[in-house]
Amino acid sequence: MKKFLCIALAVVLTLGMVAAFAACSKDKGGETTAAATTETKETLVMATNAEFPPYEFHEGDKIVGIDAEIAQAIADKLGMELKIEDVQFDSIIPGVQAKKYDMGMAGMTVTDERKESVNFSDSYAKGVQVVIIKEDSDIKSIKDLEGKKIGVQTSTTGDIYATDDFGEENITKFDNGAMATQALVAGKVDCVIIDNEPAKNYVKANAGLKILETSYVEEDYAICFNKENTELMNKVNGALKELIADGTVKSIVDKYIKAD
Ligand code: GLN
Repeated sequence: MKKFLCIALAVVLTLGMVAAFAACSKDKGGETTAAATTETKETLVMATNAEFPPYEFHEGDKIVGIDAEIAQAIADKLGMELKIEDVQFDSIIPGVQAKKYDMGMAGMTVTDERKESVNFSDSYAKGVQVVIIKEDSDIKSIKDLEGKKIGVQTSTTGDIYATDDFGEENITKFDNGAMATQALVAGKVDCVIIDNEPAKNYVKANAGLKILETSYVEEDYAICFNKENTELMNKVNGALKELIADGTVKSIVDKYIKAD
């Protein structure tokens, strides 16, 4: 009997020690994780479509451009680590809604329709929708676009406005502006409607093209956020305000857009 009690006591003691040890190491584990988070910077995941010079484009294996640099300056100010994800333009907003990305920054125009899905930061740049044509084109004004074959980048404001104004049947959609411009060079479309700065880049890169004098629509660019994440948006707006006030945003823009 005594022997049995002894064994039982030993078992209880051993179990107790195991439990105490487990609790101890769990504590230790908890401490390690807490210490690591204070040392590692929080990541700021930005979704973009890096086919939109001078706002975002590839330079070697890096994504550079106005948006990439402004985002980096914002991340630096917030003490965060910027991570850029290059995705199709039309998956940026759904990805932000699904919380796959913290924000979307892609020369993105603020529209009422998009505002139903995401929140927009303060605007940091202006865009203008313009029309790229061949130098010898008979298109002289926006009116002349009636019945013409119009190339656009899928889901952009150029696509949305042109579809509304000139009819779905006249619109050919491309994955990006470079592909739309190639179709214009090849004579597959009569013009391309796209934002002015990328348009200038595409015209420079392809002989025989020009931009129609009259612009189509003027718009504001801003960064989009998940509707629930107003905390991050407010922080980004604060950083953006300072970067505009101290001239950082202007110097980034001037670096990529030379007065001509
Ligand atoms: N500004 C346009 C839009 O928001 C195009 C943006 C883009 O192609 N990256 O739809």
